Amino acid sequence: MKAIIIGSGIAGLATAVRLSSKGWEVDVYESNNFVGGKLSEFTINGFRFDRGPSLFTMPHLVDDLFIHAGKNPRDYFNYSRLNELCRYYYEDGIRFTAPAEEKKFVEAASSAFQIDESSLKIHLERSRTIYENLGSLFMEMSLHRWKNFFQWATLRAILNIPKLGLFGKLNAYHEKHIAEPHLVQYFNRYATYNGSNPFEAPATLHIIPHLEHQLGAYFPANGMYSIADSMYALAKELGVQFHMNSPVEQIIVQNGKAAGIKVNGKEVLADKVVSNMDIYHTYKRLLPEEKHPANLLNQEKSSSALVFYWGNQ
Ligand SMILES: Cc1cc2nc3c(=O)[nH]c(=O)nc-3n(C[C@H](O)[C@H](O)[C@H](O)COP(=O)(O)OP(=O)(O)OC[C@H]3O[C@@H](n4cnc5c(N)ncnc54)[C@H](O)[C@@H]3O)c2cc1C
Repeated sequence: MKAIIIGSGIAGLATAVRLSSKGWEVDVYESNNFVGGKLSEFTINGFRFDRGPSLFTMPHLVDDLFIHAGKNPRDYFNYSRLNELCRYYYEDGIRFTAPAEEKKFVEAASSAFQIDESSLKIHLERSRTIYENLGSLFMEMSLHRWKNFFQWATLRAILNIPKLGLFGKLNAYHEKHIAEPHLVQYFNRYATYNGSNPFEAPATLHIIPHLEHQLGAYFPANGMYSIADSMYALAKELGVQFHMNSPVEQIIVQNGKAAGIKVNGKEVLADKVVSNMDIYHTYKRLLPEEKHPANLLNQEKSSSALVFYWGNQ
């Protein structure tokens, strides 16, 4: 069985590894001359920078790919747990370094913002409760499949949303429970992790502090790009074929099913086609003749970001 993957972002690489481990013949077509997509790197004046993601959570999910392929992940890449999550520089001159360990975070935030430790502990406890009730729904299930809504675990999670007081917006939730403006801003930033606006995003995003403080934030020994690079090495070892500088022009549809692609002016057929490209562009550029899921494509796009990379010589 032959599969084509459009794009070698982290999701395309993971899919290539999984399909190949199951015995599929896999070809990846990538428009760039490097793998990794938004998780990439660049070097300037002797400094190497990771471009895109900087915070690595749930590393066991990456390890799983190697284990699934019968390999030891430690032979490919290593990572360590961070003691500090991040450093904040507020407009009024306040600086705050957020320790990863929950107890230390509570002490540091309490002393930096003159707020009692117990309310912070309760706030983080709420995050744990959200994770325990909704974690599997948001992180392990694909909500575009109707059948997933009819599973007991999903229904139980959805029924818990009002009980947990999560029907409101993230900022309102923080103002109600924390009130201190610097800390509201601190906790609001979790919405920006997926490009959302905390004034519009649902309060369910208060799930993330638990991920960082309890499950931990990590950093790969050789930088973020080593995640993509090591998955690329694994995929090649498994026999995945990579076609770089190859922008896919069209997905060929036969009898209502994706049957191949058009790339470099040629048609290539396959039993399965997986698009790792952003969903909007997959429909608009590669499937212009097909019926589009209007609700999905008309959703407001996330904001862009301005990122500075600093090197000290
Ligand atoms: C500035 C920034 C900071 C971030 N910070 C974090 C963070 O700290 N932690 C975190 O977990 N996440 C973070 N993210 C999000 C994370 O980077 C993305 O969720 C993830 O990299 C997306 O991977 P993907 O494989 O889904 O898509 P992409 O990386 O977008 O991969 C899509 C691939 O498809 C290729 N492609 C597109 N069109 C075609 C075509 N027609 N033919 C062939 N190939 C094509 C692209 O070149 C690309 O390689 C951040 C993102 C950004 C931009």
